[in-house]
Amino acid sequence: MTKKKKEKMEAVDFDIEPLKKSESDKVVPVKLTGKSRFRFRCHKGVRCFTACCSNINIVLPPYDLLRLRKRLGMTTEDFINQYGEIEILAKTLLPVITLKMKNDEKKSCPFLTPDGCNVYEDRPNICRYYPVGMATLRKKDAEGGKDEFYFMTKEDHCKGFEEEKEWTIDEWRKDQQADLYDDMNRGWMELLIKKKSFGEREFPEIKNQMFFMVTTNTDYFREFVFGSSFLETYDIPQERIEKVRTDDAELLKLGFEWLRSAMFAEETLKIRDGVPEARKDRTDAVLRKVYGNKEKGQIGDSD
Ligand code: SF4
Ligand code: SF4
Repeated sequence: MTKKKKEKMEAVDFDIEPLKKSESDKVVPVKLTGKSRFRFRCHKGVRCFTACCSNINIVLPPYDLLRLRKRLGMTTEDFINQYGEIEILAKTLLPVITLKMKNDEKKSCPFLTPDGCNVYEDRPNICRYYPVGMATLRKKDAEGGKDEFYFMTKEDHCKGFEEEKEWTIDEWRKDQQADLYDDMNRGWMELLIKKKSFGEREFPEIKNQMFFMVTTNTDYFREFVFGSSFLETYDIPQERIEKVRTDDAELLKLGFEWLRSAMFAEETLKIRDGVPEARKDRTDAVLRKVYGNKEKGQIGDSD
């Protein structure tokens, strides 16, 4: 196999399901960088306006979920009950929330109106990126063991490619604030990649529950941090604790570090000197209490 041919195949051999809005999206099998250029503009005047907002599969990473539910003034549980579905993500076997499409003929996005997206400022990252996609491959010889790159998706009905406006992918990400979403969700993506490296081995249920709590329900995770022996167990600077108390973005960052430590035994959080093993067991017990020993299929259900 020639080197060129091999690179082309790598670009579509994704480690993690790529950011791709619809199954009908045609992935252009060329690896792109932030400096790659493309012509595109999406606006209310295009003939296909909102054509890409139906029959789509949108996984909601933690920051996307947080932004949406805050915009709608909903708790995580109410949001999941009304707009979400729990899925086990292929290749990682970890639970994620996807956006539930409406039950109409087109399977429209629940946030679609005749005037466009009614959550536009807080729309999911995949909608921000579109028609660009982002993917990550695990690669031993790449920096940090992984290779992030971009690709283009094209659907015949999308007329945005006929517009004059030209961008680099970096400019597009900044303009759409996808760079902010990527930063906020990076810890989640790294956990998925890490879990993928374990193959299709299931983790003990308690680890899946920890993952689900941190990545979907900041309210529960905050309750866990401040209502369990978490702060007696981990040595966290007071200044950081105060931020975590009120700032969901800071809470998420702490959560990702905790998950790396709890799921993969990485030393991301320092355990206080002299914390006995029994304390760690108690932490697990509190976690179970938060979830009431629910099974995988019930996680996130409200009682
Ligand atoms: S969230 Fe908004 S932009 Fe994304 S699919 Fe739904 S309506 Fe379209
Ligand atoms: S131009 Fe493309 S992205 Fe914009 S509304 Fe049309 S199909 Fe969707």
